[in-house]
Amino acid sequence: MKLLGVVLAIQVTLALALVSLVATDSLPFADGEAETPRSPRPTVDRFDGEAAFRLLREQVELGPRPAGSEASRRLAERLRGLLPRGRFQEVPGGLRNVIGTVPGREPGFVVVGAHYDTKDIPGFVGANDGASGTAVVTELARTIRRPRHTIHFILFDGEESPRGTPDADFAEEGLRGSKVAARAFRDARAMVLLDFVGDRRLSIPREAYSRPGLWRRLRAAAKRVGAARVFPPETSAAVLDDHIPFLRRGVPAIDLIDFTFPCFHRPCDDLSAVSERSVDAVGETVYELLRTL
Ligand SMILES: [Zn+2]
Repeated sequence: MKLLGVVLAIQVTLALALVSLVATDSLPFADGEAETPRSPRPTVDRFDGEAAFRLLREQVELGPRPAGSEASRRLAERLRGLLPRGRFQEVPGGLRNVIGTVPGREPGFVVVGAHYDTKDIPGFVGANDGASGTAVVTELARTIRRPRHTIHFILFDGEESPRGTPDADFAEEGLRGSKVAARAFRDARAMVLLDFVGDRRLSIPREAYSRPGLWRRLRAAAKRVGAARVFPPETSAAVLDDHIPFLRRGVPAIDLIDFTFPCFHRPCDDLSAVSERSVDAVGETVYELLRTL
């Protein structure tokens, strides 16, 4: 889950300061949704959108995958096997991040992440919220060879807060895997988070905490691969997500999240809500971005 925060105050010094957030359930739903066309077909083909979508479907078919569940443990084993140099990173509470690494040509590293747990709601399978980002990050890790800087691909456990946690406690109770990862990877040159990236009507404006400089590079990459339409030149509300622990440690980070997604934490976040075209457009864009980081 992500809280859609209304920022009451932000003190900007060197580090980011989260002062106060108000959770809201009233998300900007259907407005304009009908006019949003399908995701563009990129002009390049270096990312295997079909393979990524298969991996998305495979996760959904496991059913609900809340942190610590049997299905989540099985998925983690599967993801570890898929990622290059796949390994676990222990997270308190018996949880585990899954990490893969592709070595670079020069010193320094970047982090690309997504969460693989799903919100603990009965019947909730998280095709977009959980599976889409996990699928794209995993497929990127399997595709990219000899990047400039080493890339650590991190699939976070426990992004969602445990069942029954009040929204106001999300920052404390959620983001469990990314807090551990941010400590270990605090020297990252950049962090790119993929969250709701698979919905059929995909439009990803800059999330308000996402660093403008890095976001500009993302949009430039999208333009080069013919996917500019996915990333309109607008800024959306701030979202508490797995990029926050990295931002707090001074890592420039961005969050690719379409928060106009109408099935946010609803049972309709299933296969009918996502599309291979969207997954592919984001995959090609982030592939291109990672060439330049
Ligand atoms: Zn969620």
